[in-house]
Amino acid sequence: MSKEENLQCSFCGRKKSETDLLIAGLDAHICDKCIEQAYGIVQEEIAEAKTSGLSSDLTLKKPKEIKAFLDEYIIGQDETKKAMSVAVYNHYKRLLQAVDDNNDVEIEKSNIVLVGETGTGKTLVARTIAKMLNVPFSIVDATVLTQAGYVGEDVESILSRLLQAADYDVDKAEKGIVFIDEIDKIARKGDNPSITRDVSGEGVQQALLKLLEGAVVNVAPKGGRKHPEQKFIEVNTKDILFIAGGAFSGIDRVISKRLNMQAVGYSASIDEDKIDESNLLQYIIPSDLKNFGLIPEIIGRLPVLSHMNPLDAKTLRAILTEPKNSIIKQYAKLFAMDGVEFSVTEEALQFIVEKAIEYKLGARGLRSLCEAILTEAMFELPSTDEKEFIVDKAYAEAKITKNALTKLKAAS
Ligand code: ADP
Repeated sequence: MSKEENLQCSFCGRKKSETDLLIAGLDAHICDKCIEQAYGIVQEEIAEAKTSGLSSDLTLKKPKEIKAFLDEYIIGQDETKKAMSVAVYNHYKRLLQAVDDNNDVEIEKSNIVLVGETGTGKTLVARTIAKMLNVPFSIVDATVLTQAGYVGEDVESILSRLLQAADYDVDKAEKGIVFIDEIDKIARKGDNPSITRDVSGEGVQQALLKLLEGAVVNVAPKGGRKHPEQKFIEVNTKDILFIAGGAFSGIDRVISKRLNMQAVGYSASIDEDKIDESNLLQYIIPSDLKNFGLIPEIIGRLPVLSHMNPLDAKTLRAILTEPKNSIIKQYAKLFAMDGVEFSVTEEALQFIVEKAIEYKLGARGLRSLCEAILTEAMFELPSTDEKEFIVDKAYAEAKITKNALTKLKAAS
């Protein structure tokens, strides 16, 4: 017998002549029938994972693994990353439990509220979690929401975006993540004089409550009220994870007041000397949100409360180069496509950070500063034979004129 005829499927043992196709691997073979069977098993497994509400890789992620993933993209903010990892883990555990009818202990949803100045990474954390889980993700701005009947968007429009992100696959959307930005802006007017909305924030909070709790909601797929002919789609929000974020500007005063009151005798547990006045957000508790103007029911539906730390020079410096898709890595990739090896000296990086701090541009400003420094080079270099481009402090200084900085500041 020739060597060729000796070949057989390593799985079922069929000889080559008994198969329509025999595919060779490194040191094994597989026949068409076994491939079909294996494919069937894979499909079944996937379908099973879907009905249990989890994609196959989702089940494997433990809080530490979730945090490790977040660490690749987000610098610092350790407490929040930990709190989020646990919340997300519990959330998906809860989905698992939903299929197990015999269980009478119902795990409640772990919706999250993140408090921190703008640009400290709240959206980034939410987006990164969604990326890891590979679930639909949408961002909505709470400031556009109004009570039904008023000019603006109905609270249900939050779900239109999620449906769009899920390509109108309702099952997928129902396991998605929604980031509600600027949740602080719907705080009750009375407690927050900076709000000048004509529509009571409380009405919006009440409407939002229904969504956070879990309800079947009629959603206009295209959103808005501009398409009255569109058919509504029913979306159940019970398994949607809501992450709310806000700067809650002025809440540090609420926290400070509470801490001082505790210090003068209400509680012996807080030692006034140890309070870090530069970052009061780290002491935030749910009742501070209430004093800020969120209704207690909303606070109850956002049981995981965490804070974002302000970004110091060290963190800003790390943000430039350390995350997996850091700004500098992105530019290096762009230049590499033109055959140019791009690098930035440490002094130049420090200079960028200094300017971001001096002009209060935050992490978002880092990108604008880099754009200002690099635009000319990105325009010129592709038409030259340059193979290397090094940005040193002098080069960065020359591009970042006072005029450019003033413009950046105005735009931020
Ligand atoms: P927020 O939602 O708090 O206003 P974002 O998440 O939109 O802030 O952050 C703005 C940008 O700043 C992000 O896209 C990211 O590039 C950068 N950034 C902010 N904080 C961090 C961080 N801790 N680690 C890495 N990048 C960050």
